Amino acid sequence: MVSNLENGRRDIRISFEFFPPKSEEMEAQLWNTVAELQKWDPEFVSVTYGAGGSTKVPTLAAVRRMISQTPLATAAHLTCVSATREETHRVVDEFRAAGVGHFVALRGDPPEGIGSAYRPQPGGYANAAELVLGLRALGDFEISVSAYPEKHPESRDVNADIDMLKRKADNGADRALTQFFFDNDVFETYLERVRAAGIGIPVVPGIMPIQNLTQLKRFAGMCGATIPVRLDARFEGLDEDPIERAKVAADVAAEQIEDLVRRGLNEFHLYTMNRAPLVGSVLELLGLGCDTERKSAGAAA
Ligand code: FAD
Repeated sequence: MVSNLENGRRDIRISFEFFPPKSEEMEAQLWNTVAELQKWDPEFVSVTYGAGGSTKVPTLAAVRRMISQTPLATAAHLTCVSATREETHRVVDEFRAAGVGHFVALRGDPPEGIGSAYRPQPGGYANAAELVLGLRALGDFEISVSAYPEKHPESRDVNADIDMLKRKADNGADRALTQFFFDNDVFETYLERVRAAGIGIPVVPGIMPIQNLTQLKRFAGMCGATIPVRLDARFEGLDEDPIERAKVAADVAAEQIEDLVRRGLNEFHLYTMNRAPLVGSVLELLGLGCDTERKSAGAAA
């Protein structure tokens, strides 16, 4: 269990990732989650873009509502899958008209699904590094990109990944948000190699609180992310005990962040899976102090 700090917010900055809803029920869940999590005062929130280059419409709708109805600084993810440069530019214009000034610029996965060969669209951006350059030419956007501490599944090796990250940084990316990982030693080694390659942008650890270990294992396998066996032991015997499972999940994520803070990190990108309770528990354990707590602490002082 990690310790709380007593006096207000620690110097930890957080961002939240959401995905656009696919049904009315999921729509309600997203907006309840956003309402619940905004009290944690994130630096920014981001909304993912249709996998495999599927339609931009749900992302645009969610981003538009986020910008018009909440105070949250909102980034739109954008991929270059199945789109010519002109088509990508039109999408950028639509996001810009909705008030977007921050993109998470990605190549994206092949429309046939993760694991199939990626073929750049003729006349389109071939990878995220080219997309970053294109975005830089289109406007004064804040640009985040991906990074893979355990390497991207398509990459030859971690060096190939770091070369791509360098191209993205050299082309104007402001920060990298990592794929989720659970082994902080792996992340630290990766970060040392990133810095040794002359990449100076912030590399923000992506933290995935474990809502469901079995499902996560399936997904992690596709993303090339490893789930250490020690986590099996933490969740063992808890399949029928959702309350204890949620406590363990919050502990695991808070302990990971606390350890990264000890290693000098202070920015974290949380994959919320559009659910508030677990993420809220993690932030409480870290003693971040949400808006309401800070206001009452200020009044008492
Ligand atoms: P790039 O940065 O262009 O490449 C990633 C790595 O793959 C490179 O290091 C390179 O070595 C290697 N690589 C790239 N192309 C090739 C190739 N042709 N042959 C060999 N190696 C290659 N996906 C979505 O669909 N929507 C989202 O909103 C979304 N959000 C994401 C957010 C984050 C923070 C992260 C980490 C991932 C996200 N993804 C999303 C997943 C991402 O689209 C996939 O991982 C995709 O396969 C790669 O996109 P990229 O921008 O990371 O690619």
